[in-house]
Amino acid sequence: MHTTESDGTLSPVEVVQLSKQIGLDVIAITDHDTMKGAQEAMEEGKKQGIRVIPGLEISAGYKGNDTHVLGYGMDYDDPRLEPVFHYVQRDRKKRNLKIAKKMQEDGIIIDIDDVISRPTFGRPHFAKILVEQGYATSISDAFEKYLKEGRQYFLPRTYIPIETAISIIHECGGIAILAHPFQYGYESIKGFLDDIVEMGIDGIEIYYSGYTDKQKGVLLQYAKEKNLLVTGGSDFHGDNKPDIKLGSVDVKCEEFLKRFE
Ligand code: AMP
Ligand code: ZN
Repeated sequence: MHTTESDGTLSPVEVVQLSKQIGLDVIAITDHDTMKGAQEAMEEGKKQGIRVIPGLEISAGYKGNDTHVLGYGMDYDDPRLEPVFHYVQRDRKKRNLKIAKKMQEDGIIIDIDDVISRPTFGRPHFAKILVEQGYATSISDAFEKYLKEGRQYFLPRTYIPIETAISIIHECGGIAILAHPFQYGYESIKGFLDDIVEMGIDGIEIYYSGYTDKQKGVLLQYAKEKNLLVTGGSDFHGDNKPDIKLGSVDVKCEEFLKRFE
């Protein structure tokens, strides 16, 4: 789940409270490239009597393409994570400055200092500005018209190699999981998965919003063959992804949870 610490619209505390209200037993906070929300979420989890697994979702590079690795169970203040945050934030800042300047030149009202001072500011936040000022009707419309690859406000980011992301998660005692494997557009997923397994991934996210039984079946079979952990999640982002409701994915991940006992 994502919170206001990255591109979600509910705070860490609100995510935990809502999770409790709808009857979830275990949740994981996996903000993009930050663990800032983990402490509050875990404290709120203790108050509410709900298990909160600390995590993050690192935007890493596989053959130069944005590929997400989920890390679970690290200490949120482990200094060995700092280089990841530092790299991502510096890269984002550079790109965001260029996007914000371009928008400003086109007459969009945007506070450039605010944009570059926020470490996990990303395209979803730019999308929100476009919606608020009437340039798009929704976040996804803003992506479609202005922010997806090839559109006028798209600029690529650079990524730490996926092998590095996996090994840093491991150094910090965490579990590294490939996020939403069907989201990267590979026609044949097997070659991609084989490479990532070779790099030491511990498991794959299989129960994911919108994945069909057939897709889940392919991944489950693969995970079994390679003895990988199986995880899942809704990828809740609040109003930034309004089609995804909290707790909307039925996740079966007993083996994974045993690692946290
Ligand atoms: P960035 O890392 O700043 O390039 O932004 C990427 C993030 O934008 C992803 O992690 C998604 O959460 C979000 N995103 C990408 N495409 C869309 C879309 N079509 N609609 C809504 N959110 C999107
Ligand atoms: Zn996100």
